[in-house]
Amino acid sequence: MTRCALCDKIDTSNEYRCSCGGPLQLDHFKGYIKKEGKIWSSHRDFFPYNLSKEDSLGEGNTPLIRAKRLSAKFGINLYLKNETVNPTWSFKDRGTILGIKRALELGYDKIGTVSTGNMAASVACYGAYHGLRTIVLVSSDIPEGKLGQISLYGPEIIAVDGDYGELYHQSLNIDDIYFINSDNPYRIEGYKSMAFEIASELDASHVIIPTSSGGLFRGIVKGYEELIQNDIIDHIPRFIAVQGEGCSPTHRAFSEGEPVKHWGCPNTIAKAISNPFPPSGDVVVKKLKELKGTSVAVKEDDILEAQKSIARDGIYCQPASAVGVAALPHLIKDMDRSSKVVSLVTGSGIKVKAPSVKVKTADINKLKEKM
Ligand SMILES: *Cc1c(COP(=O)(O)O)cnc(C)c1O
Ligand SMILES: [Zn+2]
Repeated sequence: MTRCALCDKIDTSNEYRCSCGGPLQLDHFKGYIKKEGKIWSSHRDFFPYNLSKEDSLGEGNTPLIRAKRLSAKFGINLYLKNETVNPTWSFKDRGTILGIKRALELGYDKIGTVSTGNMAASVACYGAYHGLRTIVLVSSDIPEGKLGQISLYGPEIIAVDGDYGELYHQSLNIDDIYFINSDNPYRIEGYKSMAFEIASELDASHVIIPTSSGGLFRGIVKGYEELIQNDIIDHIPRFIAVQGEGCSPTHRAFSEGEPVKHWGCPNTIAKAISNPFPPSGDVVVKKLKELKGTSVAVKEDDILEAQKSIARDGIYCQPASAVGVAALPHLIKDMDRSSKVVSLVTGSGIKVKAPSVKVKTADINKLKEKM
């Protein structure tokens, strides 16, 4: 059964969105029966589809590492969920595979997505692997270089003139293509796996989530809610949604108590989280209020600094994935030495242009003098 994540109305007439404009989601899973000796972390019951070996490219089950240097620096226990090791180097794969299963169940032979980055790569990869024609809609002003990884998977890429925020909504009116967009209900189901994995390892006090469309945030929160509702855990962490200052429509809406409005032109290095009109933004705001979470917008320089710090704690991530660590100075007053804080490191740094570097030079015969 699907229900609107915003107005709570049951709506089974549409696949993606409610008549109020809110995103539809599957009802929370209830009815988990704890069996003797059964480890709940297998959590198969919680998903709309079971995945076989042939379905999967090995998404999920990523490491949760203790960030030694950053933990010492902030006087907390900081853990980094390393999503860079997914098949297409971002967490998007966790949701894409369930979207594909849905498309196959409904009998589609074409799938699509609206993205220029990590989600497009993920959908193109899984579409190719499952033998589906894949259409990627991008904005007509996209730099060609950005399409490298995506194009290798062989999708049809169509550059569309017009407002990019509007493209998401237009795509949902195309009948013969199943669109696995950023907050597709089945994509959200896949993202729950991150909550399950974290909760099986750690009683987290805070979970920090880089937030753009809001799909990731919703998936993590829904995962935790299902764990509570099935008596597997008895309290949830504090959720923190983070955006870059140069594109923070959801943060602005949360702070001002207003509905999410179009941001205009994004201006941030955190490209993967720069959706100017997040389709699940209002749901993120609603959930933050309901669960007493909070939201932070971080500065460009702090994002780059955080990216470096994360590298020194073992993960090479993209700027969008560093915003969680960049937000820590804003959050520390709410934390202490016993806090167990998880920051989601959502995508790999190898996917984006690295910062340029200056290196020392040396003559091979005078190496010693230079050291
Ligand atoms: C997609 C993405 C996000 C944000 O996810 P949303 O579901 O759009 O909120 C964060 N980080 C990276 C690297 C992403 O690709
Ligand atoms: Zn609704």
